[in-house]
Amino acid sequence: MVDVQIETRPPAEAGLPPLELLIAAPRGFCAGVDRAIRIVELAIEKFGAPVYVRHEIVHNKYVVDTLKAQGAIFVEELDEVPDDAPVVFSAHGVPKAVPNKATERGLTWLDATCPLVSKVHRQAERLSEQGRHILFIGHAGHPEVIGTLGQLPEGAMTLVETMEDVAALAPADPDNLAFLTQTTLSVDDTADIVEALKARFPSIHGPRGEDICYATSNRQAAVKAIAHECDAMLVIGAPNSSNSVRLVEVAEREGARARLVQRAEEIDFDWIEGVKILGITAGASAPEVLVREVVAKIATRYAISEREITTTVEKMSFKLPHGLAA
Ligand code: SF4
Repeated sequence: MVDVQIETRPPAEAGLPPLELLIAAPRGFCAGVDRAIRIVELAIEKFGAPVYVRHEIVHNKYVVDTLKAQGAIFVEELDEVPDDAPVVFSAHGVPKAVPNKATERGLTWLDATCPLVSKVHRQAERLSEQGRHILFIGHAGHPEVIGTLGQLPEGAMTLVETMEDVAALAPADPDNLAFLTQTTLSVDDTADIVEALKARFPSIHGPRGEDICYATSNRQAAVKAIAHECDAMLVIGAPNSSNSVRLVEVAEREGARARLVQRAEEIDFDWIEGVKILGITAGASAPEVLVREVVAKIATRYAISEREITTTVEKMSFKLPHGLAA
């Protein structure tokens, strides 16, 4: 663990109450989000504006608004894309029917699905070819879950969200099951569900590693490392960002009050009152500029000192799709 003192503003000099900010690292953008945003930017450069994007490219309003200003148009369904416009599919992945439909219509499409989500899609196909029924651990309605369930014909996968769902399962062939997971789940909750599945179905086939991605695990581990020291914690991220919401839960489980904020303007200073050590992190779809915005806003009310605690240094990067890479 690396402990870096970034900046100290002496309280006496500033005339403001002191507040120590404990900043988790890694935080913010992951390699999959970075790649997805780059794909939209390069598509605009290559094809010219507008470029359509099906669903928010990543779950962050600031990112979406920035790309809108560059010429991206965000839609929810393929039907909203005109025949002559290029379209990008979001980092969360899409059901197979979506690229199939785009190809049928002769659309130019680019897939910004995170390679770690695509890996789960391929695993699902492989397991299904082996004749296994798949139990997919994830949150109903999340675009990644819709995309992964949509890789196989209806009925080939069953969604499992809770321990109660595990208890209620009544598979036709209990000896021929496999499980896979959404990439952005709580590491601890998922471990409990996997354990329960293995206890009920001892022959269940699971992934060698876990499907929860490196960025999700690393950000949760970084929060765990600091939360017990913090009186409260701010997680910068969107309410529809699965990995950001999980960070709030992890902080709370470690005993810190925690809140999600999308931008500095959402900080509730009454909620911070009396806090001596405030933790800060950001979900995988929140850019660092928003972390700095939050810190700057807090610095208008407090004499802050910042300490960054690094639990892991990430070096992951993903290749761009063929045709966009330099
Ligand atoms: Fe990929 Fe994980 Fe980032 Fe999602 S959070 S885009 S799965 S690296």
